[in-house]
Amino acid sequence: MTLRNLPLAARAGDLVGSVIDSSTSLLAKQTHDIVRFAMGAPAEEAVPVELFNSVPAAVYDASSYTYGATEGEPHLIDALTEYLSTTADPTARERITITSGGMQGLDLAFKIFVDPGDLVVVESPTYTNGSATALSYGAELLEVPVDEDGMDVDQLEALVAARGKTPKAIYTIPNFQNPSGTTLSLPRRKRLLELAHQWNAVIVDDDPYGLLRFEGAEMPTFNQLSPDDPLIFSVRTFSKILAPGLRVGWVETDPELQHLVINAKQAMDTCTNVPAQHLVAEFILRGGLDDHLAWLRREYQGRKHAMLESIERHLGDRVRTTDPDGGFFLWVTLQGEDAKINTQRLFEVALAEGVAFIPGPALSPTGRFADAFRLCFASSSPERTETGIVRLAAAIDKARAE
Ligand code: PMP
Repeated sequence: MTLRNLPLAARAGDLVGSVIDSSTSLLAKQTHDIVRFAMGAPAEEAVPVELFNSVPAAVYDASSYTYGATEGEPHLIDALTEYLSTTADPTARERITITSGGMQGLDLAFKIFVDPGDLVVVESPTYTNGSATALSYGAELLEVPVDEDGMDVDQLEALVAARGKTPKAIYTIPNFQNPSGTTLSLPRRKRLLELAHQWNAVIVDDDPYGLLRFEGAEMPTFNQLSPDDPLIFSVRTFSKILAPGLRVGWVETDPELQHLVINAKQAMDTCTNVPAQHLVAEFILRGGLDDHLAWLRREYQGRKHAMLESIERHLGDRVRTTDPDGGFFLWVTLQGEDAKINTQRLFEVALAEGVAFIPGPALSPTGRFADAFRLCFASSSPERTETGIVRLAAAIDKARAE
């Protein structure tokens, strides 16, 4: 029986795979040395393995291995609320639901707010795993260009007017955006909130990197600008600040919405992995998070500068890059004659040279940005980064000669 004869749901055709996620298995199959600028994963040395391994056996009694509460383990919610109360963006425990990573937070948001045919605004470029989630619920996407101040909100208004349909959801990554590295400016945050209210659209505020600011002035979150606003659905994760394999994140929503979040989550996975929640709670309760974040910020700042310097040395004005104030990513746009190279082809040449990145078209739902690519500076030491950028420059030469 072929796939064509199977009684597939219509929505199966809307499921879009992730070039980003697939790069993990693709790279695992390679037998030669590859500098990995592709995945947005924390540095291996940034994972507090020793501390994780020292968590006492008492934390893992039989109760750690049974079903947990759908909204999350109470002591993790307490520890997280307590931790957030020490930051600029505190919250109340009844606004929090623990999720299986940020991806599940996005899935819950779009599942709750998006019907087939609804318009969902996404940044261009964007984190296409997020836009794919909206597509899986039948969304129509509206791509809005990003510049150095994040999503261009003036263009958003013009594009919505031209589409003749107001959006149900606005998907934004306001801090050190994946993939561009840019941060949504304060006036644009305020305008976006106004537009969300004008259109009665939810802001899906996806912020995995906000705690990883290493330069520039702090920027208020949507929740700080508009406290207790039911049109803000905030998606957060421990993946970038602790370890992505734990698959623990959280969403912050209006408490009245929480029963919908819980109903939707119960239809997905019952509860988030309980031992992983214990591990995260223990890490926070031991007071490790602040020191860890301070270390990450210092380390990633050094790594960003190392990558920019290597790029300057080996590529000079053949490329233009963003210069993010935090997070994981640089966005690189080929210049001059090099701009004719399709970065999807460049990816194949670069892989053979021993360096991997995410090509621009994988970061737009309509495959824009053939002249650009995303580099993750967080995973590699400055020395490895130097090796990777030398290989990248060689790959660009080769691709250009083809
Ligand atoms: N949103 C953005 C912008 C991300 O970069 C990521 C991770 N790459 C996620 C969501 C998903 O996070 P998680 O791995 O916790 O599911």
